[in-house]
Parts: sequence; C-alpha cells; structure tokens
Amino acid sequence: MIYLDNSATTAVDEDVLEKMIPWFRTDYGNASSIYSIGRRARVAIEESRSIIASLINAHPAEIIFTSGGTESNNTILKSCVYESHLVDRLAVGATEHHAILYPMEQLQTDGVECSVIPVNEYGIADSEVLAQLNNKRTLISIMHANNETGIIQSLNIVRGQCPEALVHTDAVQSFCKIPFDVEEMGIDFASFSAHKIHGPKGIGAMYIRKGIDLKAHQQGGGQERNRRAGTEATALIVGFAYAAKKAHDEMEKRSIIMQERISLLRTLLNDMDGIRFNTPESGSMPNILNISFADADSLDGDAIIQSLDIHGIAASNGSACVSGSTQPSHVLMAMGRSKAEARAAVRFSVSKDTTEDDVRTAAAALHDIMASLRG
Ligand code: PLP
Repeated sequence: MIYLDNSATTAVDEDVLEKMIPWFRTDYGNASSIYSIGRRARVAIEESRSIIASLINAHPAEIIFTSGGTESNNTILKSCVYESHLVDRLAVGATEHHAILYPMEQLQTDGVECSVIPVNEYGIADSEVLAQLNNKRTLISIMHANNETGIIQSLNIVRGQCPEALVHTDAVQSFCKIPFDVEEMGIDFASFSAHKIHGPKGIGAMYIRKGIDLKAHQQGGGQERNRRAGTEATALIVGFAYAAKKAHDEMEKRSIIMQERISLLRTLLNDMDGIRFNTPESGSMPNILNISFADADSLDGDAIIQSLDIHGIAASNGSACVSGSTQPSHVLMAMGRSKAEARAAVRFSVSKDTTEDDVRTAAAALHDIMASLRG
C-alpha cells in the first residue's frame, strides 16, 4: 500500500512505540499514587509536559494533556462559555474542522451568540470581519493550518486585528511541522494532537495561557491541575512527547522531503485536463496537495478514491463522510468552489517516509483512473 493520507493519521514510529512499552508493561502505576511505581509515572508525565511546552515556547503549567485535538477544541470552546464564564460570544473560521464547528453549533443552540468568519478563495479569514469582532468577551477560533488544503493562516494577523479578544487556534495539522511559538503569536489557547506526527492516537494537549482561569469541562478527579479529569495515560503521554520532540528536531529535514514530494506530485499532475490545485504553492503546509477538476459535475468523487484504493493508494477526498454518504467539503465550498468540485476533490498528504516512487506511482494511477472515468 502507498499511504498518502498522512493528514488523517500517521504510522507510529518504531522508536516511539518502544518508548511507550515500559509504561504499559512494567511501570503501569497510576500517576496519582504516592508509592514509587506511581511516582515514576508522575515524573515521566511532568517531563513530557516540559518537553511539549519547550517546543512551543510555553511554560509547563500552560500545557494540559487531553485525548487529542477533538477534546482540546471542545473543552476550550465549551469551558470558555459554560464553566469559566470568560466570553459571551464565539466566532470561528468557515473552514474549521468539525471538532470546532459542531461544538459551536451546540453553543449556538444553547443561545450563545456565534458567528462564522468568511474566508477568501485561498481559505484565509477575512481580516475586516475579524477586526469587527475585537471584544474582550469574545472567543475567536482560527485554525493554524487547514487539514484539507494545507493553507496556513497568520495568527499574528488575527491577534493584530483582535487585540482584546481571546484567541484560540486549532494547531493539530501544523504542530511540529512548521514553527509555532505561542509568545510570538500572542495567542491564548491552542489544540494539539500526537497522531499526525507519528505518535499514538488518543493523546493530545491544550495550551492555556498563564493567567487564564479555564476550568475543567470534563469533571471527576483533580488531575491536570483540576483542568481535565481522568487518570493520565502515561504511555501515550510519553510517546506523544517523544514523537513531538523528534518531529521538532527534524522539522527542517522532514519539511524539505515532504515539500519535494508535493512539488513532484504537482508537476506530475499539472497537465491533467481541467485540474485545479486547491493548495496554493506558497503559504501552505509542506505535506498537503488538494486537487479538484473543472468537469466535477460529471465525476464521482467516491469513485476516484475507491479506484485509487484498488491501485493500492490511500488518499482522501477531504470531505466528511456522514452516514456513508460523502458530503461536499465545507472547506472548499467556503473558498467559493462549486458543490460538485467540493464533492470530487482529492487530498494527497505525504509524510517524511513517502518516497519519490510512491508519488510517481500515485500520479500515474490518477492519470489512468481519470482517463477511464471520463471514458
Ligand atoms: N483538528 C484538525 C484540524 C484535524 O485535522 C483533526 C484530525 O483530523 C482534529 C482536529 C481532531 O484531532 P484528533 O483526531 O486528535 O481528535
């Protein structure tokens, strides 16, 4: 199989797996226990917290472990309103992940004032609309890198337009792939996940700026400084920190490899009839290429993905699959693409392990598939 869906998830690196095993096998103590097997887990968790903090220029006390990006996003949005009473309004980008859009819809149903910030044809939030949202009782959520197109948004611009508001960013796709410095960006909250960077699934973190009293949304024990209840998943936390440090240390090297693969793919697909690159060549993630076709009306997006699968290639259409039916991508629609184009898009996402041959094989397969679909 040629795996070109690394924005969905990545393979866990062998050394990451090895780092985790002792915390399942021998050092399985509960980090809240006061005897030595518990204390060892506590030390490992606090070391991991310090590692994650150092990678984004944060203080360890500003990092709270969660089960991943979805939980971090939900917690920040909902706790800001329900438990912490920090804001009365919420504004989110139109191209956000559903782990932002659906909690927002829930809040709206509950009577909270919510708005969606429109984006331009590249997926960048409208800065004039942003400027109107500047208010200290407003939470603004703008993702750092989009999971479907890879476009990167400047959080400095968001902060510049909204100096008073609370600013959250979903950084699941960008974390440890491109530089991320919470001080330099001036953000208040961020969400991260381990499984996009060759770490385990089911673990992630939230960054909460010092001084912000974000209360637990998930309640129970007093873990994570009373901000996220639940016995800490020591093995996953250790694996997360190790994978993140490794990705951060190798950021430049990995970025060059991924950029080379994506640019080769772009070149190999460039002469396809009616192809449209939804990922701009600059200002986007090094690992993502999203394409669609001018004759999308007569194309079946699912058939493209399924035919790639038959050729042994895993790629995604980037759009949500709800109850077995493919919905047009809300991201591409927000960028002004037609419904048909938004339904028949293909997202390729490479990793540090993707080879040139993988890319050549995938491009050749797509040429064949499109020729046969067009009859
Ligand atoms: N946010 C973005 C931008 C994502 O791409 C994803 C995963 O696809 C998530 C949030 C959800 O993260 P997790 O799978 O860790 O819950």
